[in-house]
Amino acid sequence: MKKRIAIYGSTGSIGTQALDVISQHPKLFQVEILSAHSNASLLIEQSLKFEPNMVIISDEKKYEEVNNALASKGIKVFAGEQSLIELAASDSYDVLLAAIVGYAGLSSTLAAAEQGKTIALANKETLVVAGDLVTETLKQKGARIIPVDSEHSAIFQCLVGEHHNPVSKVILTASGGPFLGKKPNFLINVKKDHALQHPNWTMGAKITIDSASLMNKGLEMIEAKWLFGLQNEQIEVIIHPQSIIHSMVEFADGSVKAQMGLPDMKLPIQYALAFPDRLSNNWKRLSMKNYPSLTFEPADIKTFRNLALASQAMFTGGNAPCVLNAANEIVVDAFLKNKIGFLEMSDIIEKTLEKITFIEKPSLHDYVQTNQVARDYAQSLIK
Ligand code: NAD
Ligand code: MG
Repeated sequence: MKKRIAIYGSTGSIGTQALDVISQHPKLFQVEILSAHSNASLLIEQSLKFEPNMVIISDEKKYEEVNNALASKGIKVFAGEQSLIELAASDSYDVLLAAIVGYAGLSSTLAAAEQGKTIALANKETLVVAGDLVTETLKQKGARIIPVDSEHSAIFQCLVGEHHNPVSKVILTASGGPFLGKKPNFLINVKKDHALQHPNWTMGAKITIDSASLMNKGLEMIEAKWLFGLQNEQIEVIIHPQSIIHSMVEFADGSVKAQMGLPDMKLPIQYALAFPDRLSNNWKRLSMKNYPSLTFEPADIKTFRNLALASQAMFTGGNAPCVLNAANEIVVDAFLKNKIGFLEMSDIIEKTLEKITFIEKPSLHDYVQTNQVARDYAQSLIK
């Protein structure tokens, strides 16, 4: 029996790499559902190649175009956010690869969790915004998340066979991004073209800016907290510019396990789709001879304030991480449109965190509200 895969966000960086992985294992995987926001032409191209049973285009204006191209092939075409939620809750697939970017991925991921599904999670924002609700739902409905984010895949891999053993801490590695070692007097003038040049990874625009500002590592601390049931104090970050060690786990006895590999997202994507199996492939392999020195240094949180703000939001808890995420989505978008400078991103996030009313135990409705008011407030600070 082939595993039936639904890929939400198939036209993005993770989505296209997932299709690469699947195309190398046609006997094991079958694409059942593909979704895209507005890139109709790529969605059509992917659908003609992988022949899913269903596709979803979120942008309803593109429905006609996609339907005209695919209906005669027997592919059912849906449009809009509601369709993402309904098909995520359907019986038609075995694993949902949640690879939509940002808050927009929350509703469909929650719908899959409600139905007890297996979710290969790339969309870290879902756990940042509503980690308590998502993990509670997983527990109640017998659903599970297999992480795709490389750091969390590394931790997950280190924990296989260790579930009865207490973890003393996890150490998330961060490349440091294109501005490692830079100070505020340099960062004040950087533009998006420079920020988009990540030294080790090729990714979507939003996560690439998050990596340059270290917000990505802050979001990943919160993601790790919920994925692995950790106390805030058990999560550490270390800069490791070579991106070879993808993260580490320290156990009660002081032993530290690390997972290593070349920086290539196809590996954690394949691991999540094939879990518990490891599949062979012909990708480039890590040779330690090419890395005579793996180096580590503390993160400069005075310069890269987003990491400190995210850590603070994690310790505050409640709806604070939701506020952080909402403000961050607004400022990243504004930075990409050249409306604000690199350092202004942290200023606006900080002001938004101070402004929005704290809720200690938010409901889903509270999260939806918090997301909206935080976005509106952050937007009002952008001229
Ligand atoms: P991307 O921008 O390349 O792709 C995003 C996908 O989401 C696209 O298919 C797009 O059509 C879809 N999308 C965007 N907005 C949407 C909306 N409002 N409604 C429905 N669909 C929408 O992003 P990416 O780099 O592939 O990242 C996807 C997720 O994976 C993010 O949460 C990111 O943090 C996470 N992630 C990415 C990488 C990576 O290497 N790219 C690594 C780790 C984690
Ligand atoms: Mg990561």
